[in-house]
Amino acid sequence: MKAVVYQGPRDVVVTDVPDAKIERPTDVLVKMTTTNICGSDLHMYEGRTSFEQGRTFGHENMGEVVEVGQGVEKVKVGDRVVLPFNISCGFCKNCERGLTNYCLTTQPDPSAAGAAYGFADMGSYGGGQAELLRVPFGDHNALRLGEDAQEKENDYVMLSDIFPTGYHATEMAGVIPGDSVVIAGAGPVGLMAALSATIKGAAKVMVVDRHPDRLALAEQIGAIAIDDSKTDPVQAVLDETMGLGADRGCECVGYQAHDPQGNEDTAATLNMLINAVRFTGGIGTVGVFVPQDPGAKDDLAKQGKAAIDFGTHWFKGQTMGNGQCPVKKYNRRLRDLIAADKAKPSWIVSHEISLEEAADAYRNFDARSEGWTKVVIKP
Ligand code: NAD
Ligand code: ZN
Repeated sequence: MKAVVYQGPRDVVVTDVPDAKIERPTDVLVKMTTTNICGSDLHMYEGRTSFEQGRTFGHENMGEVVEVGQGVEKVKVGDRVVLPFNISCGFCKNCERGLTNYCLTTQPDPSAAGAAYGFADMGSYGGGQAELLRVPFGDHNALRLGEDAQEKENDYVMLSDIFPTGYHATEMAGVIPGDSVVIAGAGPVGLMAALSATIKGAAKVMVVDRHPDRLALAEQIGAIAIDDSKTDPVQAVLDETMGLGADRGCECVGYQAHDPQGNEDTAATLNMLINAVRFTGGIGTVGVFVPQDPGAKDDLAKQGKAAIDFGTHWFKGQTMGNGQCPVKKYNRRLRDLIAADKAKPSWIVSHEISLEEAADAYRNFDARSEGWTKVVIKP
């Protein structure tokens, strides 16, 4: 089958790899219909992780079931399914508590937790930027869709990762109706956090970035755009909140190698939020900070660490939640909002491409080329 394969830093190729197949009785095999490029792929694409040469990318996956293992009870051939990026078993200590993001059995390293398709340090599972994908524990890891699956394909595919992830940021921050919310980052994840805060009834949503095209997408759903290349974002948030600070903050940036302002302070967004969020407010951090960047100027970035202003955070009595999103916790209710036309996450899709065009799309998405916000691949 054809797949998008990692060759080395900033080098992917579309090539033939062995077909994905059923390996265990609980597996299902999915023919990919849509698979996205994610900001998380860039940590691997840019060469800051242990992602091995020859591995296939793709953890934001949707498709049609073409084969099921003997032990699969619920999922049937022909079902249209969207696949949470977390691969989880459903029966370990963490999965039982809904923490499928930290599954203890699908990750081979006993001191680690959490597995994903086509990802560094999260098991050696194949990615979905290919024609076929093996889905372990298929009854647990495939969310079935209704009759409108194809018609709303570019909406439902966002349930695999970024829509639940943006929602998770607002959950960890504690967003409730009437809140003011500041979001760091107007990438796909930040835009989904803005959508989620709006769905939850936030009174004011402020999104900070420096790309006008991405900020314009935030404005399309009623958020206030703050361009931090032109204005101090902390002051802008204080001005919008009568000097109090926002009730909640969402970190949707993580480690970025290409800060156009040449700023390699890995904690810039966290410290912006600590200062822009009010005393006793909440912060949810979904941006990924772990990749180690040997090429960074900053010593902490070299080690995958961030120097956050814990003193101010502590003094203000703020709370902060961090980590991967447990997609399964939210994806049914977000699916049903899409089905009911109450959420349309596809408004951020900028490019729909074939598998063959993937290398060029990675280049443009990585460079944040004007207008390249979210790429969906149609294998
Ligand atoms: P992206 O790289 O496309 O978007 C990041 C945005 O942040 C860009 O628009 C960039 O201009 C902006 N930015 C950079 N520095 C900034 C700063 N100092 N202040 C404000 N904005 C700044 O990526 P994405 O797809 O939106 O993903 C964002 C992050 O979320 C990544 O770290 C990704 O790995 C992570 N992520 C986490 C999870 C999870 O489960 N926790 C899931 C998906 C993605
Ligand atoms: Zn993703």
